Amino acid sequence: MKTIIEGYESPWRRVGPAENRFAQLTDSERRSWLLERLNILVRHARSHAEYYRELPAQDLTDLEQIRQLPILENAAYRKHTPPNGTQLVAVPEAYGLALASGGTTGEPRSCYRTSEEQHVIATRLAWGLDAAGIRPGDVVANMMPPGNLWVPFISFLGALEHLEVRVLPIGRAYSAEAALKWMNRYKVNVLLGYPAEIVRVALEAPEGSTFPKIRLIATSGTPVYEGPKKLLEDKFGGPRLVSAGYASNDTGPMGYQCEHCATGVFHLQDDLQILEILEVDADEPCPKGKPGRMIFTQLLLRVVPVIRYAIGDIGKWVDEDVCPCGRRSPRFELCGRTDDMLVGEALQLLPETLDKALHGVAGIGPDWQLRTFSEGVRDCIELRVETLPNVEVEAVDAKQLRDNLLGQNLDMQSDLEGGLLGSVEARVFPYGALPRSPRTGKITLFLDERKK
Ligand SMILES: [Zn+2]
Repeated sequence: MKTIIEGYESPWRRVGPAENRFAQLTDSERRSWLLERLNILVRHARSHAEYYRELPAQDLTDLEQIRQLPILENAAYRKHTPPNGTQLVAVPEAYGLALASGGTTGEPRSCYRTSEEQHVIATRLAWGLDAAGIRPGDVVANMMPPGNLWVPFISFLGALEHLEVRVLPIGRAYSAEAALKWMNRYKVNVLLGYPAEIVRVALEAPEGSTFPKIRLIATSGTPVYEGPKKLLEDKFGGPRLVSAGYASNDTGPMGYQCEHCATGVFHLQDDLQILEILEVDADEPCPKGKPGRMIFTQLLLRVVPVIRYAIGDIGKWVDEDVCPCGRRSPRFELCGRTDDMLVGEALQLLPETLDKALHGVAGIGPDWQLRTFSEGVRDCIELRVETLPNVEVEAVDAKQLRDNLLGQNLDMQSDLEGGLLGSVEARVFPYGALPRSPRTGKITLFLDERKK
């Protein structure tokens, strides 16, 4: 229920589809709107950021001309933003948020956003959550990781403020018991967070705990594979799982899911982003349906302008038909990052394949890690899993796990028999023993220790 306090201003309006004026423009109106914003961005970047000094002084006259601008590779972005460099920073003294990326290796990168930028980002995330199915009157647990200069918790908090919902700022709960107590007391029906944290609550709940019936789980950060998905469906009364949005520190929100989007498919946040999908080995546009490098131009951010940024993700355009939801924003499918796939001379393994190897093995959690290492000249593989809380390592059938893995991967089996692979083993660790990313709670999927 909404309250109005007379005499005080209230900037918090619902951000429903009606407020998304961009979505109501015709195609040609959208193109001229985007071209105008792009020209404003290029002018700003050229005159304020050293890195962009060589951009053309003439305005572009057609959106296609974006291809005349240079591509900003991921490595160059890292090199020219603090703490490594400053060439990409256009407004060094900007007020607003100072943030840090949560990289698991190396020095965290700095990121700055003005309050205006952050406000617009929050409203676009709200459009995405609205499309995903969050409705006025819902009670939402915000379980994004808070603190440590990380942005997801506050961005989603800002988004939820526009959706006429009740919000529980749980963050990372100090215990699963506490999280469940709050969820039950306030009748939470939507969970929002990184998959690993929600899974942690499900796994660490004391025996006999009451779980709330959840209608929707909106996750961000990493995909939810089959094992964790089944666990969450079982524990929380069969919720629908949806992505809370495809976003990054550097670019803000890039995609959102409506109820018609299959796993990995997103509508483009197309009043914030121009997306190009280019061939993996050439700077030519990919035909529809073919996976390629995703190149984002972010039209909003002024402190560190992002023009033709190769974010490091692979994606493909879905199709040109209007989505059954009626939204006109184009759709793309995220096909993962190259570092999420283990590509060896002998093998190509995808996370889904490994996920299946865990099926039917009693006493283990849904997470896994694949370690590859060298023994002499041969590659060896070790599939690592953890027990459930309170289960002994010895109680888990590691042989069954290994058999499953080989059964799922006939190539692996023949490589092993033919001597191309040195060994394939499954190893069980106690609950919580595999190292996790402090931010996402995620276990590194592929640990490549092979001698190069
Ligand atoms: Zn849709």
